[in-house]
Amino acid sequence: MVASLYGVDDAKKTIWVFLDQEDGELERVSLEILSKGRQLADEAGWSLTGLLLGHQISDQVQRAFAYGADEIWIAEHPLLERFTIDAYTNVVEMALLKGRPSVFLCGATPNGRDLAGRLAVRFRTGLNADCTDLRLDPKSGLLTSEVTGFGGGVLALLESPYHRPQMSTVRLGVFPLGAEDPNRVGPTCVMEIEIAEETIHTKLIERVVGEGVDLTRTPVLVCGGRGIDGRFDMLQELAHLMHGEVGATRPPVDEGHIERERQVGQTGVVCRPKIAFACGVSGAFHFVVGIQESDLVVAINSDPNAPIFEYSDVCIVDDVHQFIPALIEEIQKGYTTLND
Ligand SMILES: Cc1cc2nc3c(=O)[nH]c(=O)nc-3n(C[C@H](O)[C@H](O)[C@H](O)COP(=O)(O)OP(=O)(O)OC[C@H]3O[C@@H](n4cnc5c(N)ncnc54)[C@H](O)[C@@H]3O)c2cc1C
Repeated sequence: MVASLYGVDDAKKTIWVFLDQEDGELERVSLEILSKGRQLADEAGWSLTGLLLGHQISDQVQRAFAYGADEIWIAEHPLLERFTIDAYTNVVEMALLKGRPSVFLCGATPNGRDLAGRLAVRFRTGLNADCTDLRLDPKSGLLTSEVTGFGGGVLALLESPYHRPQMSTVRLGVFPLGAEDPNRVGPTCVMEIEIAEETIHTKLIERVVGEGVDLTRTPVLVCGGRGIDGRFDMLQELAHLMHGEVGATRPPVDEGHIERERQVGQTGVVCRPKIAFACGVSGAFHFVVGIQESDLVVAINSDPNAPIFEYSDVCIVDDVHQFIPALIEEIQKGYTTLND
């Protein structure tokens, strides 16, 4: 067995969270992981450290403390303003070698995934990607990462008993955001770093920012599957009436009926709305993981045996092309009555 760069006995009883930032603002997923990290650290009697890289980012330090960090390590440099895999990997590697945390967690953002993969190879440790839950055993110090496999038919619990750090990535929306405590403060450790420009092989040529719909924050999510035959205009109208957003399963996204950023599920967005509608959706586990934390799930499917009904609070066996327009009409009538 290949040994990791530092072993179990050298690792400290601390959880580190990579604080992903974009334009100097912390990614929400990092705050969610800090919130979960706080809970794990409290249960185990460990400490929680945030690792923040960037340029002129000191105003984000307070936010990281507010969401539960005990300590923040900061690396500031003009060449860290935007994520580049070369510079970020080198600096985080240096920090981890110095701090030797037992656990290192990253958001499963494009940058976080890129970084975690490289670091796992450098440290010769394991990496559990896209975890749906994390547990920490206070006695053994073992992190158990829950991931889904084989189409959701298997829940795998993964542990890394012999290698450190124990690394996992977590997607946006998997853990709820904890309560913010603006009065929370702690020590900071400013790292001394040198970065030579020629060591950075990635050059940013153009930066394109999408419209940025955030399905994780909508209170009402109206999801359409293959059964709606591309009629997202109908779902858009329903979502608009309920101040919600439209989401989709993977097939309509693959077929080009709707933007990929609206895909819900294991390889899409994980949401926690108050109400999720599943319209013409069969209920594959890959999709269900994206809505199973909703307060209420309403499913409309013409097949009474559709698996989605097993995960739903309200089950409507009907043709979506009949039911949705009728529902829209009823809601509109309700609005008219209210306005009369
Ligand atoms: C690694 C991997 C990752 C994946 N990630 C995701 C993911 O993130 N998100 C995701 O959604 N999928 C994902 N998938 C795909 C997933 O496994 C399913 O194939 C997909 O969710 C099925 O989409 P669907 O329910 O729209 O289509 P289908 O399974 O084809 O179901 C269509 C449903 O519509 C119903 N229907 C048809 N006509 C009507 C009608 N007129 N009125 C009412 N109901 C009707 C049918 O009864 C059926 O239940 C992934 C797959 C893999 C292998």
